[in-house]
Amino acid sequence: MSHPSRQSEPPPHRQSGAGRFAPSPSGDLHLGNLRTALLAWLFARSTGRRFLMRIEDLDRVRDGARERQLSDLTELGLDWDGEVVSQSHRLRHYDDAIARLHAAGLTYECFCTRREILAAASAPHAPQGAYPGTCRNLTPDERMARGSGGRTPALRLRADVSSFTVNDVMHGRYTGLVDDLVLRRGDGTPAYNLAVVVDDAEQGIDQVVRGDDLLSSAPRQAYLAELLDLPTPTYAHVPLALNEEGKRLAKRDGAVTLEQLKALGRNPDQVLHILTTSLGLTVQDESVNHDLLLDRFEPGELPREPWVIRPPTS
Ligand code: GLU
Repeated sequence: MSHPSRQSEPPPHRQSGAGRFAPSPSGDLHLGNLRTALLAWLFARSTGRRFLMRIEDLDRVRDGARERQLSDLTELGLDWDGEVVSQSHRLRHYDDAIARLHAAGLTYECFCTRREILAAASAPHAPQGAYPGTCRNLTPDERMARGSGGRTPALRLRADVSSFTVNDVMHGRYTGLVDDLVLRRGDGTPAYNLAVVVDDAEQGIDQVVRGDDLLSSAPRQAYLAELLDLPTPTYAHVPLALNEEGKRLAKRDGAVTLEQLKALGRNPDQVLHILTTSLGLTVQDESVNHDLLLDRFEPGELPREPWVIRPPTS
């Protein structure tokens, strides 16, 4: 079950836990992703934790993205402990967790198509974003009928709560929706929510720092951790980078990746400086050094608002 909450952090040298960065190798990291990685590194290193790197490659893999992501992080002076872990090499661990949930009667097969789920979920009074439970209580005959098309069903969690509360360094107590989330997709791939919970626990990660687009997933993940009798990490969901229109940063916004910025003549130190200045850790023209950043880093003083940027175009 979950760890008792800490009143105050022990001194850095006594921390035994770990933080992590867990990119999906679906493309190059942009300034927003790089800033999140820097924050995850600062949170971990400033508290004496190990910092681990995990590649979430269960889907959306683009050739060469993993190597470029790791090399960009290294160029920004971010280091990590031990080997880089890839989720695609850990399938057995996800199978084990699913088997445990299954043995506890906490799973069921779901034959719904995306379209059926959307239609049912948009009905009046349906909790927003929740799976409506269409396949939760099928009779054996109904199950046969729904499975007769030959589609392999997804496997869902039989959740017995509809919400769960987590503590977040940036957001305080946060209560969010829990539904019958997918554990294994119809194509056999373990679902993100399951894999992340299994990996964080098995890697000894007790501090999860990531973009706040994932805040709403944290209650589902913490609930799943509890069902699997795994410890819940401390969360810090940090603000995303947005373009001037308030939309998520994207390629067409200008030079947003390290490679693009280098092509415009910026060196990695200058890019790091853009990030640290956005976090209030450095001022203009100040040279950046990682010890100084660790010294200055104060989670309580981080900006709470999204980082609105206009990337250089030349
Ligand atoms: N792989 C996810 C992403 O790149 C992050 C997952 C996580 O940090 O829990 O958006």
